Amino acid sequence: MRLYILPLRFSDKNLLNSLSFALENSFKIPVVISSISFSLDGGMDPLRDQFNSTWILSQLLKSAAEESCKILGVTSVDLFVPVLTYVFGEAQLDGKTAVVSIYRLRDELYGLPKNPEKLKARLEKEAVHELGHTFGLIHCQDPRCVMYTSTYAEEIDFKSREFCSNCSSLLEKKKDDLLKKENTTQES
Ligand SMILES: [Zn+2]
Ligand SMILES: [Zn+2]
Repeated sequence: MRLYILPLRFSDKNLLNSLSFALENSFKIPVVISSISFSLDGGMDPLRDQFNSTWILSQLLKSAAEESCKILGVTSVDLFVPVLTYVFGEAQLDGKTAVVSIYRLRDELYGLPKNPEKLKARLEKEAVHELGHTFGLIHCQDPRCVMYTSTYAEEIDFKSREFCSNCSSLLEKKKDDLLKKENTTQES
C-alpha cells in the first residue's frame, strides 16, 4: 500500500516535502510525491471562479496506479462542491482519492500577515482528515481529533493532527483489511 501525493497547480516544494513526512508519520505507509499531473481546466466553474473538487477526485482516480493505493491531490486553487460555498478538501469515503487546497488555509486571505508555520499545520491536518475518509473514517465528535469537522480555517487550529483512540483503532483495522486484501490479490 502506498500513498501518492499529486501536486496540482502547487509549486511549494518545501511544503510538499513536509506534508509527505507528516503523512508517512500519521499513516505509517510509504508516501511518494508523484510527478504525474493533469490540467485542472475541466473542473473550473467560470461563474464561481472556483474548481469542482468532485471533478478533481474523478480525475485523480484515473491516475491510480495500484489496487490498494491512496492518492492525495494538493492544490492552491479554490475548491467547491455544488451545495457548498467552498471546501478545504474532499475525499471518497472508503475510496482511493482525496484532494486538499491551501487556498483558504492561508492567513493572508483573511487580511492577516502570512504565517507559514500555521499554513503547514493546517494543511497537514486537512490532508490527514481527508485521507482518513478514504480509510472509511467519518466525522468524529472529539474536538481534538483530526477527524473533527472544521468549517473555518481558525477552527482547524483547535484540533490536533492526531486521531483519537477510537478513530485510530478503526484506521488500523481498515489498514489491516486492505493489506490482507493486497496479499491475497498478489497470491492469486
Ligand atoms: Zn471531513
Ligand atoms: Zn476521532
